[in-house]
Amino acid sequence: MQAILDRDGRCCVWCSRPLDVGDRALTFEHVVPRLKGGPAWAENEVPACRTCNRQRGHTAPSAWLEERAGRGLRPRRDVVERALLDLRDAIAERGGQRRARPYLARELRRLGLE
Ligand SMILES: [Zn+2]
Repeated sequence: MQAILDRDGRCCVWCSRPLDVGDRALTFEHVVPRLKGGPAWAENEVPACRTCNRQRGHTAPSAWLEERAGRGLRPRRDVVERALLDLRDAIAERGGQRRARPYLARELRRLGLE
């Protein structure tokens, strides 16, 4: 938990709301949803406030970045992009994750990262 906050910063990736350990609003969520085959790895987890996490549901990260920005919030696009790239590298190294691969590739294309 602490390591993820150190890596990503102490705020929600979707709205920039400040968050820290012990804060009831702090959650960690999967950038590639578990439902879409996203692994329970640190590379796939980012800090998010409870509100953004709940409202996002299984929305794709690229679409959710757009949605949040459209509401005048300040999503941390750089952190989400870095998570997707790190996850891609981790999967390449460790193998497996056959369901997550095409989803991840599509998201990287949508974000102009591939
Ligand atoms: Zn938020």
